[in-house]
Amino acid sequence: MTRPSLFELENHSDFIQRHIGPTVKQQEEMARILGYDNLDALIDDTVPAAIRRHTPMDLPPAQTEQAVIARLRALASQNVVNKSYIGTGYSNTFVPAVIQRNVLENPGWYTAYTPYQPEISQGRLEALLSFQQMIIDLTGMDMANASMLDESTAAAEAMTLLHRMNKKNRSNVFIVADDCHPQTISVVKTRAEVLGIEIVVGCPEKLVGDTEAFGVLLQYPGTYGHLEDISPLIERAHAAQTLVTVAADIMSLLLVKSPGELGADVVVGNTQRFGVPMGFGGPHAAFFATRDAYKRSIPGRIIGVSIDRRGNQALRMAMQTREQHIRREKATSNICTAQALLAIMAAFYAMYHGPEGLRRIAVRIHRLASIFATGMKEIGLPAQQATYFDTLTFEVGEQQSSIIERALAQGINLRIIDTDRLGVTLDETTTAADVETLWQVFNDGNLPDVSALDAAIDDTSSIPAGLLRDMDYLQHPLFNDYHSETEMLRYMRYLEDKDIALNRAMIPLGSCTMKLNATTEMLPVTWPEFAGLHPFAPVDQTKGYQALLAELDHMLLEATGYDAISMQPNAGSQGEYAGLLAIMRYHQSRGDHQRKICLIPSSAHGTNPASAALAGMKVVIVDCDNQGNVDMDDLRLKAERHTEDLACIMVTYPSTHGVFEESIIELCAVVHEHGGQVYVDGANLNALVGIAAPGKFGADVSHLNLHKTFCIPHGGGGPGMGPIGVGAHLQPFLPSHPVSPVPGVDADNDVVSAAPYGSASILPISWAYIALMGGDGLEQASKVAILSANYIAHRLKSHYPILYTGNSGNVAHECIIDIRPIKEASGVSEEDIAKRLIDFGFHAPTMSFPVAGTLMIEPTESESLYELDRFCDALIAIRQEIDAVQAGKIDAQDNPLANAPHTLEDVAATAWEHSYSRELAAYPVASLRRYKYWPPVNRVDNVFGDRNLFCACPAIDSYREDG
Ligand SMILES: *Cc1c(COP(=O)(O)O)cnc(C)c1O
Repeated sequence: MTRPSLFELENHSDFIQRHIGPTVKQQEEMARILGYDNLDALIDDTVPAAIRRHTPMDLPPAQTEQAVIARLRALASQNVVNKSYIGTGYSNTFVPAVIQRNVLENPGWYTAYTPYQPEISQGRLEALLSFQQMIIDLTGMDMANASMLDESTAAAEAMTLLHRMNKKNRSNVFIVADDCHPQTISVVKTRAEVLGIEIVVGCPEKLVGDTEAFGVLLQYPGTYGHLEDISPLIERAHAAQTLVTVAADIMSLLLVKSPGELGADVVVGNTQRFGVPMGFGGPHAAFFATRDAYKRSIPGRIIGVSIDRRGNQALRMAMQTREQHIRREKATSNICTAQALLAIMAAFYAMYHGPEGLRRIAVRIHRLASIFATGMKEIGLPAQQATYFDTLTFEVGEQQSSIIERALAQGINLRIIDTDRLGVTLDETTTAADVETLWQVFNDGNLPDVSALDAAIDDTSSIPAGLLRDMDYLQHPLFNDYHSETEMLRYMRYLEDKDIALNRAMIPLGSCTMKLNATTEMLPVTWPEFAGLHPFAPVDQTKGYQALLAELDHMLLEATGYDAISMQPNAGSQGEYAGLLAIMRYHQSRGDHQRKICLIPSSAHGTNPASAALAGMKVVIVDCDNQGNVDMDDLRLKAERHTEDLACIMVTYPSTHGVFEESIIELCAVVHEHGGQVYVDGANLNALVGIAAPGKFGADVSHLNLHKTFCIPHGGGGPGMGPIGVGAHLQPFLPSHPVSPVPGVDADNDVVSAAPYGSASILPISWAYIALMGGDGLEQASKVAILSANYIAHRLKSHYPILYTGNSGNVAHECIIDIRPIKEASGVSEEDIAKRLIDFGFHAPTMSFPVAGTLMIEPTESESLYELDRFCDALIAIRQEIDAVQAGKIDAQDNPLANAPHTLEDVAATAWEHSYSRELAAYPVASLRRYKYWPPVNRVDNVFGDRNLFCACPAIDSYREDG
């Protein structure tokens, strides 16, 4: 071996091999087991030659973790963290340290998956249920979901819900109060236009009642700060059969009457200021609360209370069957990934402070606002609002530029509303000294005195009479038992221990790519220079972000082969929507207004048809053949039939069936021939990066789930990011933003998220991943992802039928095992297998998607050969149990599969009345003696939960007795 130079020693990076599970030697062994000389031979035989890239990605070589952190530090230092008074839906907050370290920075929370398997998700389900309870209490509504992507999209979803629900008023008009946040007005307008809903923006006092409208959106308090009793307005609306959505500020609801009390039909808002950093736009959890009558139409995920097979209380996601996978283009919404981790943080913030603590925070904010406003009046600059909570607007005329200059000199950002108005929003972090500084900024001369004003003013005079609220909220013990840090710490640990996240075991979810979320990648998320920025901060303060965004743009363009990127969409579903809008705008720009048909293969993910419907397109399904591939004859037939009105096809590649379809290039050609565009759903990019690029093999646009391929953790159901890559011809139609225009696109373009770059503060994660891996590392990761999936398929194929393979007999980066014939022969279902895997300490694979009665397994490149084997051994052991059932050696009804999962209580109970042993129940393989996960509940009854829909925290006793 040659002696390495000092330079080589210093720049040697272990990261690629830390990220990729199997060692290089194991990779070669695995390839040989599969019958190939080496890994590249497997890839050559699996990926169609026609789509392979000919040039490697133009990315810097892999850097060490230390170098990447140093580079991120340098980028971060280019951001200026001014004190923000910009408001507009985003406020400074103190993230309680105990929550930051033990939730936001804790892989036990952030690496968990969406709680589709309730038995291993009771911890996060309980936290999310508390979030719903908090929202129900503060909004005064009957029920709430958990959660929405941002306030603006929540308002847009409210509009479509009211449009569906208002049977008494079929008008097509939706009124939007002109004092809603500007980003919300834009997002709602975009959403409405393509659905043929007419938006009338104006003063609600003038419009409501006189304008025929199915619904109205009010902001409470208004974006400029005005706070008023909206109940007379709501009454007037209801008298005209106009339904009412109120976008409310969560902090103000601690002091003023809830929109529910005032008569609202839907209440939306954001919980960011409950202990979640602004993060230059996100991520944070928005909320959606409504009346009981609309509960079955509510968008997003709802956590509900059910029972397990012993009759004990157990939580689960309610009405899952109602989600997009079943409803397809008739789904109520396209939301899939939401903001679970951030909803959980907000709920913990409320628990930690409790009702009194929260109220004290709100009272202090309001007191400071009153003192500030009174002082401003003394200065000779009275606020435009007589009644307000925390936000005030000042008409400053010609003084504007000198005030802004003085503010910036003090490190302060004010809200610049127009050429002569400035806005100020106070928050939890504002101090008396800050108020004095603000006075100085507005006035060079004499200053009022905080203490004197504090003694003199009357808090209630700035809140309208009768609008003050009694403390009727958060009385549940959950919000009252955890005010000491010790209790909070233990409660969070208690919940965490109930769940399986990636820090316990492999989560082999097909389609969702649960790979390593490396700690180094996560570090920058909570740095103040990334976490502390307001999304509308002046651009010269966000240079670090701009540089990082530009570099990430380049990286993702290299990976996908496209020409331009939009970072605005907050999840894959939102990327789909933004991409379809770009396609539609492109057609419209060419005069092709009739092009509205969206072809979707029957195997597509449910968000595809749901997004198409949301974009105002009409879905036409294309069949799959019995190999699971898109039926090219049917495709040609339908493309031809719709040659006049074809907008696009949405196709996932490699397919949701886990196969590299040979026909993809021809498919793109056929669609293009008939004037359509090709949308490639990028959820499966983990099989492509470095190997093939959708932008090069014929696609026009793709979303990238950065929380799948690019290492943003799933957070138990969000956050996520769904940027879209597009060809140059679609670039002019990418989303813009009304407050902070996106460089390179028309400021009047569509707007799909509240913030210009979506959940910007998690983008450093993907940037870091790419920098750590380099081009070669990324390509190696894709290859090993394919290798590991084929290795699993190989080990399992004599025990379970592999449903689909490509021409070479190989799968792509995931494989589907078909349980239908097994169920037919033995009575054991895919659900029994999924639940039995819990006894082995595993999270189940994806169940019954994309094919009912199957399990889809995606190992990713990050799982070691040890873990792959452990998982295969578990499934093979389960197959032997199935055989025993089938052979009549174990009881058909009373067997370890039907009764799975087994709890500690099951096996420790005095009575054991089963036909098999306690050992077999709990320790089916010896390795479990070293480390055993105990599910906290038995199998959860889905049907009971949906029939008896209950989505708030259950009574006190049910919590206290389980200690
Ligand atoms: C995950 C996924 C989506 C939806 O993405 P979200 O980020 O959850 O909104 C769409 N299509 C496919 C194939 C997926 O796997």
